[in-house]
Amino acid sequence: MTFTQSSNHIVKRATRRGGIVRFGLGLVAAGGILAASLAPGVLAQALQPQSSVGTIAATTSAVSTTAQMTVGTTQTLTVAQTEGPYFKTNSPERTSLVDETVQGTVLTITGQVLAADGTPVANALVDFWQANASGAYDNSGYNLRGHQYTDANGYYTLTTVVPGLYPGRTRHIHVKVQAPNGPLLTTQLYFPGEARNATDGIFDPSLVLNVTDNGDGTQAATFNFIVNAG
Ligand code: FE
Repeated sequence: MTFTQSSNHIVKRATRRGGIVRFGLGLVAAGGILAASLAPGVLAQALQPQSSVGTIAATTSAVSTTAQMTVGTTQTLTVAQTEGPYFKTNSPERTSLVDETVQGTVLTITGQVLAADGTPVANALVDFWQANASGAYDNSGYNLRGHQYTDANGYYTLTTVVPGLYPGRTRHIHVKVQAPNGPLLTTQLYFPGEARNATDGIFDPSLVLNVTDNGDGTQAATFNFIVNAG
């Protein structure tokens, strides 16, 4: 995966192993219908100004042709947050950031990427990066960095460790989310019951993970992202 950044835009091209351009096989299989909506390998979208991304409430409704009932839902888009200074392009594609070199409390985060009408978004990019259990980022390599794509039902699963604290911030995990034809969302996830949540000026309560203790020394958490699906 490569990012080309300019002052206002991030253009990203995702490739599978062996250089097969993402969506290339799908286009062959699905023919011209997909070809019109999915340009091969390109998830290029303009980054919207932060102020316009965060709190847009989108309303979509669907009317049943038989009962004439409105069955749509209204969901507020996941709030955008600052990228911070430690994002790196070209993270490895993987669902687990834990290996023998990583220490800390193992945490599994699961959830869906959903459009504003509640429709699951398949093949959405979800790119995580975070500090280690000691509060340090790996800025020379890719420890605790990785991206993945949601499955056919919009689900992602990340295995990682609970990030440590570092000066000036509460506990958090950074993430970028992008539907195949949607704008790039940059945000952060937080932990419940953290004393520093009350004093961190970036913290947003709508971004708190739902965390449960598995009772075996590991933790599980859930979070759904609501995104502009394009
Ligand atoms: Fe950070």
